Amino acid sequence: MVLSGKSWVDTGAQFIHGASDANPVYSLLKQHNLLSELVTEEGSELFLNDKGSKVDTEFANRMYEAGEEIIWRKHEGLIGKSLGEHFAEESQQLIQKWGSPEEEQHKILSILHLVGKNYFCNMGDDLNVEGKMFMLKDKLLEDLPKDRLLLNRPVSKVYWEGSFRNEEGHQFPVCLLCENGEQILADHVVVTVSVGYLKTAASTFFDPPLPQEKLEAVEKLGFGCLNKIFLEYEEAFWESDISSISLVWEGETPADLSSSTTRWIKSLQHFTVMRPKETFGNVLIGWCSGNVAEHVETLTEQELTAPTTSVFSGNPSIPVPKRVLRTQWQSKKFIQGTYTYIPPGIDAKIMDKLAEPLSSSKKPSVVLFAGEGTIKELYGTVQGALLSGHREAERLAQHYGRAVSTTAACSLPDQEN
Ligand SMILES: Cc1cc2nc3c(=O)[nH]c(=O)nc-3n(C[C@H](O)[C@H](O)[C@H](O)COP(=O)(O)OP(=O)(O)OC[C@H]3O[C@@H](n4cnc5c(N)ncnc54)[C@H](O)[C@@H]3O)c2cc1C
Repeated sequence: MVLSGKSWVDTGAQFIHGASDANPVYSLLKQHNLLSELVTEEGSELFLNDKGSKVDTEFANRMYEAGEEIIWRKHEGLIGKSLGEHFAEESQQLIQKWGSPEEEQHKILSILHLVGKNYFCNMGDDLNVEGKMFMLKDKLLEDLPKDRLLLNRPVSKVYWEGSFRNEEGHQFPVCLLCENGEQILADHVVVTVSVGYLKTAASTFFDPPLPQEKLEAVEKLGFGCLNKIFLEYEEAFWESDISSISLVWEGETPADLSSSTTRWIKSLQHFTVMRPKETFGNVLIGWCSGNVAEHVETLTEQELTAPTTSVFSGNPSIPVPKRVLRTQWQSKKFIQGTYTYIPPGIDAKIMDKLAEPLSSSKKPSVVLFAGEGTIKELYGTVQGALLSGHREAERLAQHYGRAVSTTAACSLPDQEN
């Protein structure tokens, strides 16, 4: 996506979760010299209340950290509850434990409310590699023979129990029928479509249909939505060292974590400042998730601009952004959301079921499954998607008695639950 014809923005992944040499995406970026060009600038956080005034940064950061601690120890007492419900309960207990005066309680809860809205990923340090993920994709594509790569071929059906003959008379167990009528014959197919897509298409996409336990896995897994709203300003209204702006809604508490669409602006998590300014200009990214993210996809540019600007309206000199863009991951037919998640009460091992290959009556592993939703240790991440692909490549290599050398040598982290 391009803003003002000069800077591009990432519509999808932009962080390496757990940035270290053990992370295969980090290693690949490093190997392709994409990390050396990265400009990382430490910045400060700005907390603004809904009247446009600054909230004391030291106080806000202290409360925010207290909230984060609740999230990090979430596994205690999280049985059968959503993280949001657990967080709301623990926040109340924290306030009672501190015995804070009533007017301070409101302030504390409104900061904790911010924590509850945010997305957390406990995989180690996050590295913002804005713009580099899709450069990496282009670099990786250079290694693929161009005549082997077919893009823009939506598949409408995977036939996997057949004997399909090509012009040379070779027989194949798999036939992919594309939406344009083209047929692609294969010995094996690795299906990497999203869990979101499978939720609507799984029952008709495969012939023969998927086994019941796989359909159940698709049904039971959650597929959430995260959208970004890019606001581009003529001039920055924030100081040059600011890296994020959080809006503190006074009077809101973690228990107010509703996903009411009429209050969508209150559900924005925070705004990230795209840095450095020389590369990106004056751009903020607003983050939203869940029902609110879906609602944001339906709004017009005008409907997006007016309230996002008015939340900063304590300062009348703040102009309207000159451009607004937002992602629409839920509406994309071939994704239908963003991340797989594990709903309360569902065992993560269900992802192993989704990952199991299908064998036809004549040949093993004719349909293999990869993608972030098939890897319980790293779902929701680019490295998870990558390693799930390596896992299936390795499966096929073993089947044919070949050695593989991939970054799959990177070990998976231990699963906490
Ligand atoms: C807004 C956003 C922010 C994110 N931020 C981060 C981040 O900072 N760090 C991180 O690690 N991860 C992040 N992620 C998650 C990460 O992008 C995903 O986990 C990863 O891309 C999943 O890869 P995948 O190959 O499993 O699936 P996808 O990337 O969804 O690829 C599936 C592919 O299948 C194709 N497809 C579907 N149906 C068909 C069909 N019928 N025929 C042909 N093709 C089909 C789709 O078009 C798509 O290209 C983010 C995701 C989003 C959306």
